Amino acid sequence: MLKVSDLAVHYGAIQAVSGVDFTVNDGEIVTLIGANGAGKSTILKTISGLLRPSRGSIDYDGQNLAKLAASKIVKAGIAQVPEGRHVFEGLTVSENLRMGAYLTPKTQSEQLTAVFDQFPVLKERRNQDAATLSGGEQQMLAMGRAMMAKPKLLLLDEPSMGLAPIYINKIFDIIKAIHAQGVTVLLIEQNAQQALQIADRAYVLANGQVKMTGTGQELLASADVQATYLGG
Ligand code: ATP
Repeated sequence: MLKVSDLAVHYGAIQAVSGVDFTVNDGEIVTLIGANGAGKSTILKTISGLLRPSRGSIDYDGQNLAKLAASKIVKAGIAQVPEGRHVFEGLTVSENLRMGAYLTPKTQSEQLTAVFDQFPVLKERRNQDAATLSGGEQQMLAMGRAMMAKPKLLLLDEPSMGLAPIYINKIFDIIKAIHAQGVTVLLIEQNAQQALQIADRAYVLANGQVKMTGTGQELLASADVQATYLGG
């Protein structure tokens, strides 16, 4: 489904990603783990067209995303849930969700029903200003907003960041539920333990490069991964 080859991304003179290769197969949950600054967010933003690679290709079902506008990438079936949620404050929950279908208006009402079914709390709070939601609810809103575009591939950037433990478990349950509906997932997480538990496959990134890859279970069992990312 997605094949990233020899990807390099720069911010001016700073090289954030250098020569990264990875794949995401149809129906998988793949996670990228790594310390702060490893290049994970940069890779996700490059897939969704917010940043441009300085080298390499991003093949998605035969299209090179490196040359496609971000709006076309959404229409091709890729939606991103950004780090830090970025809900639109001053707009209601419903309005935030409708923004997620801005580029895919034909399926808007069908998706709104599906999102409200999946996130009953968003339905209850549909007329409330998004700014008044808790952090966990805002994360659900950001995920619901991405689902409004009816993606085939969902990109999640640190969905559990800054959330209370009860919400962290809930967010991972929601990721599994979205995946069970047939959506392929590419997940970035600092919470490596939980990410590896739900992942089919994972890549460990450091300094803008892939250092290790394997199934989620293999990496959970790796002494190196345990020492560096799982607290010993
Ligand atoms: P985090 O979890 O902290 O977001 P990350 O693995 O997602 O970490 P990136 O945000 O992709 O890492 O950052 C990779 C490198 O690029 C880091 O060295 C970072 O300082 C640098 N970087 C990120 N954004 C910018 C920017 N806008 N301008 C310059 N350098 C940047």
